[in-house]
Amino acid sequence: MNNESFQVRIINKEKGKGIFALRAFKEDDIIFEEKPVVCCQFSWNSDYGYLACDNCMYPLENAEENARRLTGKNDLILPHPECCEIKKESIVECPACGSKYCSPDCLNEALGKYHRILCSQTREKCEAHPLEKLKETWKQMHYPPETATIMLLARMVAYVNQAEDKSSVLSVFNNFCHKTVNEVHEIAHNLLGEKFIGQIDVLRQLMEQTFSKENVPQWFTPEGFRSLLALVGTNGQGIGTSAFSRWVKNVSALELPDDRRIQIDKFVDQIYDDMDEVVGTFLNNEGSGLYALQSTLNHSCSPNAVVEFPYSNSTLRIKATRDIQPEEEICIGYLDECELERSRHSRQKLLSSLYLFVCQCDKCIAQAEDSDVTSDEDDYDHDMSS
Ligand SMILES: [Zn+2]
Ligand SMILES: [Zn+2]
Ligand SMILES: [Zn+2]
Repeated sequence: MNNESFQVRIINKEKGKGIFALRAFKEDDIIFEEKPVVCCQFSWNSDYGYLACDNCMYPLENAEENARRLTGKNDLILPHPECCEIKKESIVECPACGSKYCSPDCLNEALGKYHRILCSQTREKCEAHPLEKLKETWKQMHYPPETATIMLLARMVAYVNQAEDKSSVLSVFNNFCHKTVNEVHEIAHNLLGEKFIGQIDVLRQLMEQTFSKENVPQWFTPEGFRSLLALVGTNGQGIGTSAFSRWVKNVSALELPDDRRIQIDKFVDQIYDDMDEVVGTFLNNEGSGLYALQSTLNHSCSPNAVVEFPYSNSTLRIKATRDIQPEEEICIGYLDECELERSRHSRQKLLSSLYLFVCQCDKCIAQAEDSDVTSDEDDYDHDMSS
């Protein structure tokens, strides 16, 4: 997958692929945009009533409804309703199961790709349905904050099973970065934690009861199933959508008289405080997706590009965060902004536990002489990994 602006190249066996600029990019230039191969909202997130399109995760409530639900204040009124981007007019349901979609296009895409196999065919929640059992079993092993969902694996299998050209769908999945057997064990371990690692086979058996494994028998063996979990664990890109945060962003951009600005900033702060009391940090519709091109971008601790979701759905954008020269590798940060500011020792610990690699980016090399003494931030690491 190349175009005139960049090229995917194999770097070496250890690093795998990477993306290189073929022309100069200015800061804030869009490098590319991409829809996921598959994506899925996290299981607890959806069960807790975070309303998102079942196909693209576009919010299904407007900013005001979103703010009311997250603050528990049913009479809350948001000023400047024109700052809410969310359009609800085109919401549709699967006629058979009632799954909600932002538009007929999303419903049709889901039906065409994977939903015919995954549709429960009933609006009643049926606990005996194998998919429902699979989801509940997963939820008992993977509590919030969620980083993955077994339902993404279910969508992958359904996508292959439903496809007319199965080999081309499989080749898309085969292009994602694969790990060695030892690494796969470690990633699966990190994903589920010590307590549940012995129960991976329970999930695998439930997958076997749910799907025909004829087309992808290699995904249903104990090793193959772990590899699939590892594929999702290492390549999965987090997706978050929120009607309210888009409204806040648009309101912040309004030209307002000073006193009105102060007033509205205070109002927004108060809403965030109220949300904090009701839902803590869980503000967004959250999920993860697999992106064919984005997954080939390597990490750097001083990245020259960033991942954004400009349309409040699962379509991502890679944007330059500084000027990039032709032949320069385009890199994103796998860690969030705060984590990137930590010491080299601290970043490397995070990267090796989450992604199993030793970072050798320019920043890490420049800081190679720094001591490994634990700083305050590293105490926080211990909390995170325990
Ligand atoms: Zn949608
Ligand atoms: Zn359905
Ligand atoms: Zn680094």
